[in-house]
Amino acid sequence: MSSAPEVVDHSAPRDWVDNAVRLINADAQRSADTHLLRYPLPDEWGIQLYLKDESTHITGSLKHRLARSLFLYSICNGWITEGTPVIEASSGSTAVSEAYFAKLLGLEFVAVMPRSTSRAKIALIEAQGGRCHFIDRPPEIYTEARRLADETGGHYLDQFTHAERATDWRGNNNIAESIFQQMQQEAHPVPEWLVMSAGTGGTSATLGRYIRYRRHATRLLVVDPENSAFLGGYETGSADYATGMPSRIEGIGRPRVEPSFIGQVIDRMMRVPDAASIAAMRHTANALGRKVGGSTGTNMWGAFSVVGEMRAQGRTGSVVTVLCDGGERYADTYYNDDWVREQGLDLTDPSATLDAFVATGRWKT
Ligand SMILES: *Cc1c(COP(=O)(O)O)cnc(C)c1O
Repeated sequence: MSSAPEVVDHSAPRDWVDNAVRLINADAQRSADTHLLRYPLPDEWGIQLYLKDESTHITGSLKHRLARSLFLYSICNGWITEGTPVIEASSGSTAVSEAYFAKLLGLEFVAVMPRSTSRAKIALIEAQGGRCHFIDRPPEIYTEARRLADETGGHYLDQFTHAERATDWRGNNNIAESIFQQMQQEAHPVPEWLVMSAGTGGTSATLGRYIRYRRHATRLLVVDPENSAFLGGYETGSADYATGMPSRIEGIGRPRVEPSFIGQVIDRMMRVPDAASIAAMRHTANALGRKVGGSTGTNMWGAFSVVGEMRAQGRTGSVVTVLCDGGERYADTYYNDDWVREQGLDLTDPSATLDAFVATGRWKT
């Protein structure tokens, strides 16, 4: 029997890693911070509502931050190095942003997705140099991504596991730190509420942790669309709560409680009907003069509810939510009346609720 050696040396040249980190940081250095937009509430309410506009990232959504964090985390963990194929289970904005960073680093990128994924989304991923790998049974998306990574010697980024831990939650200009800095000269610099929805849960985890770390009194409201498991998991405290049902609002709402969802840092959760999300999305697009995505509508519905609550209690202050992506990707769906009708959705009631709210400041309960 041979005894264990006294020294084991795995050192290897780090030129590729050094350069990869530089390229990602240089990309951030060339980029501007995203705007904090104001939604025009009546001045006399004494309440200000803001939207952190994540649509202005180069790849068009808040997933740009996630993709940057996942790549840096994977590179600095030694999981991605020169020539490592990079795999993700995503048919949406995550794959678009990750394909961008893979191309920046000269790496092959494969997105595993259901065969039913729309041509438009496939085109967006391919435009960033990514390849799409189709599966027939959607629940197998994760095992197939892992299998593909094993088979190719690649790395599975696994957004739903790593989103909450890849981001520097204490600062480093994460979305929370950026919001609080941009609020500094406002009438009410520390918001009463931050309002966000959950896809991976990574953004709400960063917001909730940062609020505690900086000892702000701000509370975090997380809004959840129809069929999503997050609200049930939050209510019951059960990590394996599942509905098994897909969400109609892209980017948010999941059939299972994802590992990156940290319910303990959330102060309140609220269900938002899909018709309300779409009505609020269109309302917000009209108010801002530019199209926003469906999850921004979900967020705004929740933001209006807490503004209405503050009004009812006679309180002033500020509320901040997130404009997650632009509306260009949804011309054929949420902005298309035929599609809305085919889905069996009726926007009449939620639209009336929104009109009454901006006219009177009273939110229906
Ligand atoms: C991913 C995503 C969200 C949710 O963000 P998470 O940090 O993953 O919870 C919201 N809206 C859109 C459009 C998204 O792509």
